[in-house]
Amino acid sequence: MPESGKKTYKLHAPAAAARHFAIDYAAELNPQQLEAVQAGEGATLVIAGAGTGKTRVLTYRVAWLIENGVPPEEILLLTFSRKAAQEMMRRAAGLLDDRCQRVQGGTFHGYANRMLRRYGNVLGIGPNFTILDRGDLEDAIQFVRNKLGFGEAEKRFPKKGTLAAIFSRSVNTGLPYRKVLDEEYPQYLELEEEIQKVAEAVAEYKKARGLLDYDDLLLRLRDLVTRDEKTADFIGRGHRYLMVDEMQDTNRLQMDILRALARPHGNILAVGDDFQSIYSFRGAEIRNMMDFSDAFPGARVVKVEENYRSSRPILDFTNRIIESAPEKYEKKLFSSIEHAQKPVLLSPASEMHQSAFVCQRVLELREEGVPLERMAVLFRTGFHSNDLELALTRARIPFRKFGGFKFIETSHVKDVFAHLRIVVNPFDAISWNRVLLLIQGVGPAAANRLVEAIVEKRQGAAALRDASLAKKKYAGDLRALADFTEKAGGEHRSASEAMEAALKYAEPILKEHYDDWRKRRDDLQSLAVVSERYEKLGDFLADMTLDPPGEDLVEEDGGDKEDEFLTLSTIHSAKGLEWQTVFVLSLVEGYLPSAQSLGSDKQIDEERRLFYVAATRAERNLYLLAPHLDPPARFWGNPDFQAGHGPSRFLREIREVEDCTEIWNLEEDP
Ligand code: ATP
Ligand code: MG
Repeated sequence: MPESGKKTYKLHAPAAAARHFAIDYAAELNPQQLEAVQAGEGATLVIAGAGTGKTRVLTYRVAWLIENGVPPEEILLLTFSRKAAQEMMRRAAGLLDDRCQRVQGGTFHGYANRMLRRYGNVLGIGPNFTILDRGDLEDAIQFVRNKLGFGEAEKRFPKKGTLAAIFSRSVNTGLPYRKVLDEEYPQYLELEEEIQKVAEAVAEYKKARGLLDYDDLLLRLRDLVTRDEKTADFIGRGHRYLMVDEMQDTNRLQMDILRALARPHGNILAVGDDFQSIYSFRGAEIRNMMDFSDAFPGARVVKVEENYRSSRPILDFTNRIIESAPEKYEKKLFSSIEHAQKPVLLSPASEMHQSAFVCQRVLELREEGVPLERMAVLFRTGFHSNDLELALTRARIPFRKFGGFKFIETSHVKDVFAHLRIVVNPFDAISWNRVLLLIQGVGPAAANRLVEAIVEKRQGAAALRDASLAKKKYAGDLRALADFTEKAGGEHRSASEAMEAALKYAEPILKEHYDDWRKRRDDLQSLAVVSERYEKLGDFLADMTLDPPGEDLVEEDGGDKEDEFLTLSTIHSAKGLEWQTVFVLSLVEGYLPSAQSLGSDKQIDEERRLFYVAATRAERNLYLLAPHLDPPARFWGNPDFQAGHGPSRFLREIREVEDCTEIWNLEEDP
């Protein structure tokens, strides 16, 4: 009490520009995160380890900008994989309100698709182009190669799949063919000129028919934003706030696109973790992160070391995975999450035992209160979960599978899509070819002649009714096909109406071609359900090609229709996600690391990063399974395969593994 005996009451200065935010940013973010979220204009890079809140920074930044009056449409969020894009958009929408749903975003490919449909005419690309998946592209390459005479006779000429890989590598890395061949396919070095010729002819072929493959999407988007300054400026200004998740997996092409988009305003926030770079096979460049400040001068770099996802014992384990990497990384993450359970290490006697363990443990954890959604089973390659899928089905545990097996690439789905594509783009020669070959009596020669009339001579479906065909025994079938395209293509047809027409038309064809057509018809019915979400057939097709819905459609339902499901996923598709409990399957030489990677140190390093990505998805429980498995049969003769294939080297190289894990022995009930 002051001397006078009077109490002093202090008035605060009027709250500085009293803004009321729905979110208490300072309370929900640590100081480094807050700095990145509230950064003003300019470039910022957050470079930090797994689970340190990089994606959280992006989503809070979205909310912060919107609360400060930035129109949501001006925010563009980009990332590499579809799952990561969905996660990012979901979290942003959950934070604030509906306004977040108007934020632009998705994968680079999805964004490219939208931009090219809207502005592609600047480059001479019509809005109805068809997207080629890998299989379609290989067919086109085969066709062109044969036409050029580099076909069967020249035994040493690369196969269509190899050619596709060479082209793609060159596009994604920006390296000339000579360099790609020198590094990866030295046996074809002397064919550089011919390969170049095929590449040019394929490009011509695609251009003439309005076809774009996945790489073209990025390539043409880059053209769009770098060639014509006015367009680039217009597009760039539309995205005043540019954000990128998983920056470590961007390639040179994507970097060019980002640089061009940011040029009008210089606003870019990118986040990434060099130790989670797992897409070098698609040309990803960690350098894009290291050189960020060169690309965006004056960039702030923010680092975070606290992990908010995983408990201490899990983090202790994952830190040790990094230790084994040859490059010395300075990052050492810490966590304040107390939880006694160490990662559990098991060596089941067989794949069957591995599956039985997962099923039993999943059910127990669910009894203990962990919902199925909070658990995931991760593996290196799609087929590694085949046995488990059967076991889960038998145990009536509902699950969804992500990555790996692509429903969209099964032939009956491709058949139906080909029918829909000719409706949208009547000059799509590849789809016409596929559709025509399905008709009984139509062989490759007849199909070629018809495609020529329809596409090259621009007669469209009318060519199917040509009088010269009247005597053919399949004349009636061709007329039915023409009827179908007209019916499905009517001006006001919705996607689902077109789909219905296609299924009706194609059903007898499926019956004829597939013994198990009933099962396939069920698949297609579920696809029809998806189509109901779309107004335009073109949008439906584009989404299906970019975002294969396989996961939803191959869902094995354990009987009752429950919303709850267990996640099965390849590690690649699990990037950026998190679960309370994670099982990592088949930590065995030849599986993880995969057999293909055994010969190369660089690839082994990438496989180790994959293991790191898998283990860092876990919040509280991590089960590491190293069953006794036979090596994949086709690698039996591989000299890279050490005699003692067995538990993965990534487990063996962990420092004092018995210290940081708990080892469980599996015993069978007699
Ligand atoms: P990854 O490298 O795996 O993509 P990340 O760095 O993107 O991880 P996030 O997924 O954003 O990390 O965050 C991991 C988890 O930690 C999330 O559940 C997130 O909500 C939580 N988290 C992050 N930062 C904080 C924080 N400051 N306070 C509380 N929770 C946080
Ligand atoms: Mg993330």
